[in-house]
Amino acid sequence: KLVLGIETSCDDTAAAVVDETGNVLGEAIHSQTEVHLKTGGIIPPVAQQLHRENIQRIVQEALFASKVSPSELSAIATTIKPGLALSLGVGLSFSLQLVDQLKKPFIPIHHMEAHALTIRLTNKVEFPFLVLLISGGHCLLALVRGVSDFLLLGKSLDIAPGDMLDKVARRLSLIKHPECCTMSGGKAIEHLAKQGNKLHFDLKPPMQRAKNCDFSFSGLQHILDRIIMQKEKEEGIEKGQILSSAADIAAAVQHTTACHIAKRTHRAILFCKQRGLLCQSNAVLVVSGGVASNLYIRKALEIVTNATQCTLLCPPPKLCTDNGIMIAWNGIERLRAGLGILHDTEGIRYEPKCPLGVDISKEVGEAA
Ligand code: ATP
Ligand code: FE
Repeated sequence: KLVLGIETSCDDTAAAVVDETGNVLGEAIHSQTEVHLKTGGIIPPVAQQLHRENIQRIVQEALFASKVSPSELSAIATTIKPGLALSLGVGLSFSLQLVDQLKKPFIPIHHMEAHALTIRLTNKVEFPFLVLLISGGHCLLALVRGVSDFLLLGKSLDIAPGDMLDKVARRLSLIKHPECCTMSGGKAIEHLAKQGNKLHFDLKPPMQRAKNCDFSFSGLQHILDRIIMQKEKEEGIEKGQILSSAADIAAAVQHTTACHIAKRTHRAILFCKQRGLLCQSNAVLVVSGGVASNLYIRKALEIVTNATQCTLLCPPPKLCTDNGIMIAWNGIERLRAGLGILHDTEGIRYEPKCPLGVDISKEVGEAA
């Protein structure tokens, strides 16, 4: 079995060909990050235009590298939800044309399902396992019981942690910092935090009293906005210049973010074990998404998994962020399970918003 995977849900145009055993035969990716960094965020019509300009080349490159002829493909798998409408539309209409032309089955992919299943391509992980997805656009904790069988335990009630870190980094003007100017906001915070004192600012982890597994990061962002404004006054500098306390602020926000994420994850593990949803002795926690590359946050999660007899697994960094490989692999998983393989694509639409699995977050809160 061979699947071509296509991903355009946000700001990466990506494609890959993967076989049944998880071998990546060919891949290609075009990242729009540089363009969006300049405008201080993604402008959807710009993302759409860039996907349009690159999709054909990226798919051709992935196919060419794989040395697979299109006729040998078993199916084409494409992200159709959730994501930016204008971005999803480019990938879907390109894929439907290809499906029509090659007369192949189509497998619509849920972007978060693909992130969650990626670990099964690199490691031998059986269902069920727990997954924590933390990126710029997403923040969720879910129990993965099967290829398309998810229990959503908790999610961010507002923004994702990567989004918050990006906003704080922008407010601190880290883009002008000589050591961090080429880094994403989250990475810049991690870099600078090493030079700072996390105890210098007393930030409280959000939602301390809520006994569920939900997250919140916008309150933290606003508190930091205020702290930064005050420090600018104290240090007598203009907005846009770098504070001398920037490293301390970075260390404090990273620490508080790590505490918040670790606490919610701890609660999710306990809930699943109590309910017999996860194995008592060797359960697996998978952490993925761009924020998962933060070593301080990983360390906090390691403390949680060590204390609860769980194993912590992360896909390699390249597979933690958006890519075509995870989409193709999700296609393979679905082919093997015989789930959601379409021979007729009539009426298929992209869905910008689409929750993952069955939401039991209320139940988690009530159980505590
Ligand atoms: P999606 O949510 O759809 O996956 P995305 O582009 O926001 O899209 P990723 O590419 O997975 O997500 O991750 C990017 C995010 O990860 C950014 O918000 C970035 O600041 C954050 N990030 C990257 N490296 C680090 C790091 N070392 N520490 C903390 N955050 C990081
Ligand atoms: Fe993603």
